[in-house]
Amino acid sequence: MDVEKKHILLVEDSRTQALFARRLLEGAGYRVTVAETGRAGMELAQTAHPDLLLLDVVLPDIDGFEICRYVRRSVVTYIPILIFTGERTGVEDRIGALTTVGADDYLAKPYNPRELLAHVEALLRIKSTIDELLSRLSSEKQSYQALRRIALTDYLTGLYNRHYFAEVFEKEFAFAMRYKTALALALADIDMFRDVNNKYGHPTGDWVLQNVSGLMQSKLRLGDAIARYGGEEFVMILPMTDAHAAAVACERLRAQIEQTTLNAEAGPLRVTVSFGIAAIPALGVTKASELLERADKALYQAKHTGRNRVEIYNPYMTSVPPAPTPTPTKPGD
Ligand code: GH3
Ligand code: MG
Ligand code: MG
Ligand code: MG
Repeated sequence: MDVEKKHILLVEDSRTQALFARRLLEGAGYRVTVAETGRAGMELAQTAHPDLLLLDVVLPDIDGFEICRYVRRSVVTYIPILIFTGERTGVEDRIGALTTVGADDYLAKPYNPRELLAHVEALLRIKSTIDELLSRLSSEKQSYQALRRIALTDYLTGLYNRHYFAEVFEKEFAFAMRYKTALALALADIDMFRDVNNKYGHPTGDWVLQNVSGLMQSKLRLGDAIARYGGEEFVMILPMTDAHAAAVACERLRAQIEQTTLNAEAGPLRVTVSFGIAAIPALGVTKASELLERADKALYQAKHTGRNRVEIYNPYMTSVPPAPTPTPTKPGD
């Protein structure tokens, strides 16, 4: 089939020489395109995707060395280039072709036909090897990226998972400590989520988790990160943000979720979320885990003082687990 044939671009201004080379190469099973000027050769090198370039040096407009330089600079894929050193066969030209202009091979004119075919075959072999390596690299890169996504994200919500959160949080914490910038951490927990499961079933519970995740993610600023911390708990990292600004952001999220009716298959329902915030710089916080503990205490406080609230950590907070109080799960309940 034609598509299997290797494509050779021959840049040659002499019609007789072009015809001779073309017959020779076509006879050996290659597809050949001839360009009679340097400019046409440059264009075809870009657009015709040749597997090999055969360049005459002396051409009416742009010489073969110049074309060679141009192709190396402008064509992203690798094309092997063989230069015919017919009219300029000095040793300096031959060395220059291979070194400064970036050709892969040269052949003196007049050439032995079998020798030309041998050079062509060798160059095409190198090209195939490079193409195969590149395609293997790109498919490995794709599988790497797919694996990375699986490793870093939570299956149900598509948010980052706790593992990745830990990694990002450590880095952001270290950065903020070092450069004395603000960093806020917010923990969010859906209120009375057990009731949602009990009332509507676990699959609806999963669906609610997905919706709440989507809402929170869409409302975050670029540069903030959100992860699923546990079952119905989320954690947000807000770089360059102090506790007050984080509370404003979380309050916006809280209000948005409270006002959103989720149209589940089982009927319309609403959920609320409690938030606990801690931030640095803060006295007594030197480790990332201490900031997390403070955010957790603030979340407990939010639960303890009625849920559907945003609390900022303060040192007088209790750390007693909250007693459940009923929260409406249906609008109008
Ligand atoms: P509180 O307001 O104190 O947070 O009450 P709560 O009911 O939300 O808290 P609790 O920790 O007692 O219960 C959390 C519930 O979240 C229990 C569990 O069944 C549910 N849950 C955790 N992970 C998932 C999940 O992936 N899917 C579903 N559907 N439910 C989950
Ligand atoms: Mg010529
Ligand atoms: Mg909960
Ligand atoms: Mg919980």
